[in-house]
Amino acid sequence: MFRKLIYRTGCLIRNPSIEKCYKDLKATEFSSSSELHDLQLEKLKALLKFCYQYSDFYRNSFDKVGINPMSGPVNFDILKKIPILTKDELIKFNSEIHTTSSFEFKKKFFSETSGSTGQALTFYKDEVWDSYNRASINRGLSWFSISPWECNGYFWGFNFVLLQRLKTKLLDFLLCRFRLFSYSDNDLDKFLSKCKRAKYLEGYSSMIYEVAKLANKKGVNLKNIKLIKGTSEKIYPHYSSETIKAFGNKIISEYGSAESGIIAFECPAGNMHLNEETCIVECIDGKAIVTNLVAMSFPTLRYDLGDYIEISDTECDCGRKHKVLKEVTGRVGKNIIGFNNNYPSLTLYYVFKNIALESGLELTYRCEQHTVGFLVVYLEVEITESLVSLLDSEFSKYFKNDMKCEYIEKSTVRIKGRKLKDFESFID
Ligand SMILES: [Zn+2]
Repeated sequence: MFRKLIYRTGCLIRNPSIEKCYKDLKATEFSSSSELHDLQLEKLKALLKFCYQYSDFYRNSFDKVGINPMSGPVNFDILKKIPILTKDELIKFNSEIHTTSSFEFKKKFFSETSGSTGQALTFYKDEVWDSYNRASINRGLSWFSISPWECNGYFWGFNFVLLQRLKTKLLDFLLCRFRLFSYSDNDLDKFLSKCKRAKYLEGYSSMIYEVAKLANKKGVNLKNIKLIKGTSEKIYPHYSSETIKAFGNKIISEYGSAESGIIAFECPAGNMHLNEETCIVECIDGKAIVTNLVAMSFPTLRYDLGDYIEISDTECDCGRKHKVLKEVTGRVGKNIIGFNNNYPSLTLYYVFKNIALESGLELTYRCEQHTVGFLVVYLEVEITESLVSLLDSEFSKYFKNDMKCEYIEKSTVRIKGRKLKDFESFID
């Protein structure tokens, strides 16, 4: 009860619209395909009008291809005329895409996400958009009889900058969440003992897998866990055999991104349903092109996520008619392997984000690993002694003495003709 109260109060302050969004999403959970289609079209119409009125970027772009959503018809064919956007364009035309200078939102949140080569994408998220996002996750949790205020374990997402750390701790308390900081024995023991009172776990699937393996090695098994949710990374089939043994469940996937929100959520019957109330997903040449239907402050129409996907119309046993995302073949998550421990590749994001925050230095980077305990870091800039000491000190906060880093200066970070990746492992 107490937990529910804290959660509700937090929501009232941060996300006043969340309850309404949740109710809306629950109301269409079992709608027919044509009802969902109509709902999408209605939302698309409103979105295109809004973009035309308040976003300089989209007004120009619509004018160029001859779309006038204010007077002309809006349908899915019109959508196909809108040029596809890349992340680089979201960064380049950032202020023109934003509608925040001409439209006054009651409330908005600053959001930041890593670009594939270290350059960050920043934008403002309006409150309703943020609420739809959270409500979409909560709807997914409800399919597994979980309430968002129930105790949960969180893998990673930790920053060593003091202020960030305090914020994280407060947020964790409010959300009844505890997290795993590293794969060290001590941290892992503490985490596993806290898991005994948790209802669900979430995080990077490669980390969940590592923890499940260690839990099995230690002979710990926790059957109180009702759901394990993996985000952002591909979930390999062999991950599940370990998690079923340790936690009694396979990892279910949630698919989304900071710009596009929740795109799909796996149901109890094992299919990933598109979150059709909040986005339109097209599959073009195998690529996921996503139109976020609820993002008004920073609209992303026909955004190329950089992932390869497959969509299917097959009926799901659960009764939901939302289209099924069959496979995401993009983002493959691999660990960075030290002499003694493993680290998620996301560590690199934090290292370079901290350098940018502390020294204002935005470094474009790409890392490769060919040998255990050695990391090759390619940087576009010239490498000075002071830069080496800055990099060394930031890396050692995460890796301690477990990894040797080699810096290669003035190198090309982008490899032509391939998807941009900040980390690639050549270790099997
Ligand atoms: Zn289903």
